[in-house]
Amino acid sequence: MFGMHDAADRMLLNAVAQGDEDAWSQIVTCYSGRLHAFASGQLGRRGAEAEDLVQETFLALLQTAGGAEGIHSIEAFLFVVLRRKIIDLRRRCKAENLTDSQWRHRTLSPIDTPSRSAAEAEEALRSERGLTKAMAEYLDNLKAAGSYREIVALELLFMSDRPNKAIGNALGLSPVQVTRVKQAALEFLRAKVLDLAPLADCSLRALWERRLFGCLKRSVLGQYELDLLPGALKDYVQLHLTLVECPYCLANLQDLREESAKLPALNARILATSTPFLRRPGQTSGGA
Ligand SMILES: [Zn+2]
Repeated sequence: MFGMHDAADRMLLNAVAQGDEDAWSQIVTCYSGRLHAFASGQLGRRGAEAEDLVQETFLALLQTAGGAEGIHSIEAFLFVVLRRKIIDLRRRCKAENLTDSQWRHRTLSPIDTPSRSAAEAEEALRSERGLTKAMAEYLDNLKAAGSYREIVALELLFMSDRPNKAIGNALGLSPVQVTRVKQAALEFLRAKVLDLAPLADCSLRALWERRLFGCLKRSVLGQYELDLLPGALKDYVQLHLTLVECPYCLANLQDLREESAKLPALNARILATSTPFLRRPGQTSGGA
């Protein structure tokens, strides 16, 4: 659960960085459907562009795979890159109101700012790792205690622009309780990550967005579809889908439902456009 599969993803990316076509094909086949469902859903009647953006997104992963230090979850990376491409496209098209989505105007995190010096980037990466670990630990504690409602509250606090009162109403909590949920999380993070610069809402937002902390593994979504989940987790998934309206998990679920009609043609196109960029065996990077 919660979208973090560091070790397996790292192995796959290392293989891709070495030019392993099977590993690359595995990644494309695994993620293309959910990405396409996400892009189609976000683009609405401009859905024809979805395929192009998905292809570009895979290329971005391929180009990053060699220096994949910053990639902790392939899925999160792909979704974040694709979402940015969609936002860019909307801007370019001067699309109809951008303000209709709660997922809009996510700020780029410091880590994504290209002008940072190497030392600053290193420092930002270190901070982010510490914060990610602490956040994951805090969420694990909430899960162990069955406090899924608190996780949803945090998610809405970090991922949406809804005021505390609205979040409380939706979850059956008072505004004071919602504030406490947030304070408890911040206190935990501060205690764990002592050397961290003051925690700003925007950096937590960026982190939450990039790591998809609240998102569900595909296997969990599958069990949800089959009504196999125990009560508390089932409630959580339901809230994540219907209240948080997580576009990533909704895309995953849609892809899951349509899996039988998979997209072999799209996969073939993605592989055809991206595989030539794979490193060839014996090829050195940077020509050193
Ligand atoms: Zn999700």
